[in-house]
Amino acid sequence: MGRLDVITGPMFSGKTTELLRRLQAAQQTGSVVVAVKPRIDTRYHPTDLVAHTGESFPARCIDAPAELLKIEADVIGLDEAHFLRENLIAVIVELLDRGCHVICAGLDRTSFHVPFDEMGRLMCEANTVVKLTARCSVCGEPATHTQRLIDDERDIVIGGEGMFEPRCRTHRLDETPRDDRPS
Ligand SMILES: [Zn+2]
Repeated sequence: MGRLDVITGPMFSGKTTELLRRLQAAQQTGSVVVAVKPRIDTRYHPTDLVAHTGESFPARCIDAPAELLKIEADVIGLDEAHFLRENLIAVIVELLDRGCHVICAGLDRTSFHVPFDEMGRLMCEANTVVKLTARCSVCGEPATHTQRLIDDERDIVIGGEGMFEPRCRTHRLDETPRDDRPS
């Protein structure tokens, strides 16, 4: 039976590490496991999934969600799912209907603190959702937000430490673009 699990939270919360742990566990039970990530994410390694801890798992890079439909696997692990915006939910539902177990990891919000819509849809469709927290770079309390330290208006900026920091609700800066603020 198809199954969707979502792992979400801010940057530096261990989402990829948790995804790797689950994929390794599935592989140990004899399932055919394929890890996938958007080609846009080449920060650490061009193909493997690499956690901030340094652990890795071989992965295929895709440019569009439809490429997921060509993968033959019992378990598909998709990292950085928020980067694949167009049509992702329809493709995931198709995989679930085929009986695939899909595990998606990705950011719930942009660093402007605005939801990534496609991640919200995945969470609605999911059997389980885990929201991880990082540690606030100011006070050390659990961090639910990603704070952008650089000046860039785009929703998607590829980067890691030095460009973004985890922050709690108190220490996030409200830089939400005016159009996205509740009126
Ligand atoms: Zn804080």
